[in-house]
Amino acid sequence: MGIVKIKDKTFKTSIPEADILKKVQVVADRLNRDYADKTPVFLAVLNGSFIFAADLMRMITVPSEISFVKYASYEGTSSTGSMKTLMGLNQDLTGRHVVIVEDIVDSGFTMAHMIEDLKKKNPASIEICSLLVKPGNLKVDLDINYAVMEIPNDFIVGYGLDYDQEGRNLRDIYTIVEE
Ligand code: 5GP
Ligand code: MG
Ligand code: MG
Repeated sequence: MGIVKIKDKTFKTSIPEADILKKVQVVADRLNRDYADKTPVFLAVLNGSFIFAADLMRMITVPSEISFVKYASYEGTSSTGSMKTLMGLNQDLTGRHVVIVEDIVDSGFTMAHMIEDLKKKNPASIEICSLLVKPGNLKVDLDINYAVMEIPNDFIVGYGLDYDQEGRNLRDIYTIVEE
């Protein structure tokens, strides 16, 4: 709680851990109802979602699986430049109910791209469960059925989210202080 400095930026507490956990529980309760007989596959997107995924999964009481995936960028040789590939997905999703576990949806491009990739695996359904959503920045048409919290467009860190790779370990969520 309070003020933290990470590299050249200052951040202040905006959502304490206890408040986050209460809201995660609300969404977990909904998932437990909606997926009671579906044995969902949770796909947590690294790195940002690792803490959220750990807390959420311990609140899930229905039979389920979890896997961790990551988008790796590499420099393509084509004129399209850099591309992002989904790494770490080594299981059959055919006919499965997939729930993406994401840290934050900003423009929505990452989630739109991931849904297109996952559709090729022929799952029975795909839903998004995101800790945070910035509705003011959404640039694509995206259904986010399980959003834990909506926040303004300010940059945040903590609870898994980073500023230049630091700050993921902070227990609370912090908002940048404009100087
Ligand atoms: P989108 O494709 O929706 O624009 O971007 C989503 C990704 O951008 C997130 O998964 C996250 O890595 C990053 N991002 C967006 N807003 C924030 C923010 O406020 N703080 C941090 N740490 N990352 C953010
Ligand atoms: Mg993310
Ligand atoms: Mg990041």
